[in-house]
Amino acid sequence: MRSLSDFAQKKQAALDQAARARRPVPLRRQGGHVLDETGQRFVNFASNDYLGLSQHPRVVGAAQDALQALGLGAGASRLVTGSAAVQHELEQDLAQLKQKPAALVFGSGYLANTGTIPALVGPDDLVILDELAHACLHAGAQLSRARVRHFAHNDLDALRSLLAAERARHPHVLVATEGVFSMDGDRADVASLSALCREHDAWLYVDDAHATGVLGQGRGSTGGHDVPLVAGTLSKALGAYGGFVCAADDVVRVLHSRARTQVYSTALPPPVLAGARAALAVMRDEPERGQRAMSHAQTLCRGLGLPETESTIVKVVLGDDRRALGAQAALAEAGYWVTAIRPPTVPDGTARLRIACTALHEDDDIAGLVAALGPLLA
Ligand SMILES: *Cc1c(COP(=O)(O)O)cnc(C)c1O
Repeated sequence: MRSLSDFAQKKQAALDQAARARRPVPLRRQGGHVLDETGQRFVNFASNDYLGLSQHPRVVGAAQDALQALGLGAGASRLVTGSAAVQHELEQDLAQLKQKPAALVFGSGYLANTGTIPALVGPDDLVILDELAHACLHAGAQLSRARVRHFAHNDLDALRSLLAAERARHPHVLVATEGVFSMDGDRADVASLSALCREHDAWLYVDDAHATGVLGQGRGSTGGHDVPLVAGTLSKALGAYGGFVCAADDVVRVLHSRARTQVYSTALPPPVLAGARAALAVMRDEPERGQRAMSHAQTLCRGLGLPETESTIVKVVLGDDRRALGAQAALAEAGYWVTAIRPPTVPDGTARLRIACTALHEDDDIAGLVAALGPLLA
């Protein structure tokens, strides 16, 4: 189609012009390293496999066993014939981890958020989002057709004003944020959010994608707090794939019937579910993995003279897109794989390096990155 090609070429030219084009690079992950097509090795500082579980022998073994026993695909949606025992067992494990009565596993974290929010709120309701909340929380809010408002990042006074002004006008209000912000590495004040939302009868929804497995002995950011809706992903610290929501039994029952990304989408492959279960077990047995990743991140911050991070994620804001891409290239030259994060993933003028520390890193990797990156910040 000529018109389609014309469209694609113009779009691509504009992205290239703005240094906003993105391109997947074939890489092979091996422990804490990646290898490119030429076989060159880089220390991997761009992976969310924070505990190094995606290639852990117990995780791989559990997935292999399930593959042999049950095959690859789930065959259908949960409600048709796709509801494997391992999925129920994984949900019990997740509910226990998050200290919630029930859990529901989705095809991915993206699908968990875009399925759950529209199942709970609709056109008369209001969704209030932290402005830096993940793209799929915004997408879920849009899909719900509720009114959508944003508050300045982690600004509880702004949220309080919004709730005071808006709460009475809507039957239901859902407030969505992240436990650890994916591109900034800072945390939400879950205790205060919980109190504020309770006061206004607003439903607090915390996406704990980057806190699960790392903070709070693996429980994430919500442990000990009253958070009615806790979402997460199996794809980061748990090294697998899939998403989940933990909530009260009655809420999860409604999601079974109403969350469209669950009802109309095939269940996760059994080997993935079994691997995720094994990852949860390793995480429980070896809590030092999370501590090691956190301690690397803190060492890195000290080395670079940055404020202490509250997670395994260290951001180095460089501002200009080209400067961030240049720093990425210079670090690759020195043997470190770090990704530049550009708008629209982050706000304009805040292009950055996003450095993810994991349990697979050695002390020398951190020291080497400090030595390579320090001069670029001067
Ligand atoms: C990664 C991420 C997601 C998406 O999870 P997937 O399982 O990769 O689809 C959702 N929310 C947040 C905050 C994330 O960082």
